[in-house]
Amino acid sequence: MSAMPLSRGMPHVNDTFGRPLRSLRLSVTDRCNLRCKYCMPEEEYTWLPRENLLTFEELCTLTGFFTELGVDKVRLTGGEPLLRRNLSTLIRILLQNPRIKDLALTTNGLLLAEQARAFYDAGLHRVTVSLDTLKPERFKALTRRDGHEQVLEGIQAVVRLGFKGLKLDAVAMRGHNDDELVDLIEYGRRVGAEVRFIEYMDVGGATDWSMDKVLSRDAMLERLSQRYGRIEPIIEDSSAPAQRFVLPDSTTFGIIPSTTVPFCATCDRGRLTADGMWYLCLYATEGIDLRRPLRAGASAEEIKSLIRSVWQARKDRGAEERKELEQIGVRGKLIEVEQLREDPHLEMHARGG
Ligand code: SAM
Repeated sequence: MSAMPLSRGMPHVNDTFGRPLRSLRLSVTDRCNLRCKYCMPEEEYTWLPRENLLTFEELCTLTGFFTELGVDKVRLTGGEPLLRRNLSTLIRILLQNPRIKDLALTTNGLLLAEQARAFYDAGLHRVTVSLDTLKPERFKALTRRDGHEQVLEGIQAVVRLGFKGLKLDAVAMRGHNDDELVDLIEYGRRVGAEVRFIEYMDVGGATDWSMDKVLSRDAMLERLSQRYGRIEPIIEDSSAPAQRFVLPDSTTFGIIPSTTVPFCATCDRGRLTADGMWYLCLYATEGIDLRRPLRAGASAEEIKSLIRSVWQARKDRGAEERKELEQIGVRGKLIEVEQLREDPHLEMHARGG
């Protein structure tokens, strides 16, 4: 663990490395309408039982416990969150909680054009759209579904509505889209969005992962500097996963180098699955069941005390541990497909990216 995060003037629940509990990813569904090769490469999946999915009321109640303990950033994710019916209603209810200072949404954009207005009207603060390629035929090969045009229409809808802070996330993979870094930055510039390249991660569900498909941060910077010249890092005090850079013409972009330069030291994120399992790390194989005590009638104080004590004991530094395995030459896929079928919570699409 190389660095401690700075306190931001509010009392926080800190873990064993002094990392505060500040941000929560709420996965609202484990279903997805794409089958991206880096996330859902299999033909069949085991889904979370529907009766276990948290209602909007339960999601908001649990979120309220987290915000009382210091969380002020919430991101809606999945699966594909827009598959959850009436998502704008959830946004509206969540925003009745004044402790939430930043409510963001990560989506693949497929259903965005038709829902963006409702999200805007509900008060959603920010949108991130996953966009790995500008080529329709490549989109189809990568996601194993149609819909590239709808994604671009979704992005346009968000731009037209005037959402601030639009981001476009692209998983950069060798041999898949590594020739599109410049094109994606140029597209982002045209629509007024910041592009962030994500290193391909060996998370649960990434059953096709291998190190040779990872385009590292350094390789991305080298390719981009061949086109743009000098690229400067932006120095900022932030727990955000992206390292940000600026091009000579002042266009900014980000890289999320989880695989080669893990940022566990500043990770303040917890992840709640759609059925109420709370994970302290993207790589964690065990979670804490919050649905059970909630449905069994535990008091707010009891659940908050559980959350507090679990976070205070947190030692997770999953990405750093993966990197250590690489250094001794034994890094491979995180979890075998048979185990994923037995426990779908281990999938990236269940716990949200
Ligand atoms: N469906 C939504 C979307 O596509 O943005 C939200 C869920 S998705 C799991 C969240 C993010 O995780 C996406 O940007 C996706 O590209 C990223 N992701 C999934 N698997 C990944 C992997 N193996 N390595 C890096 N990023 C991954």
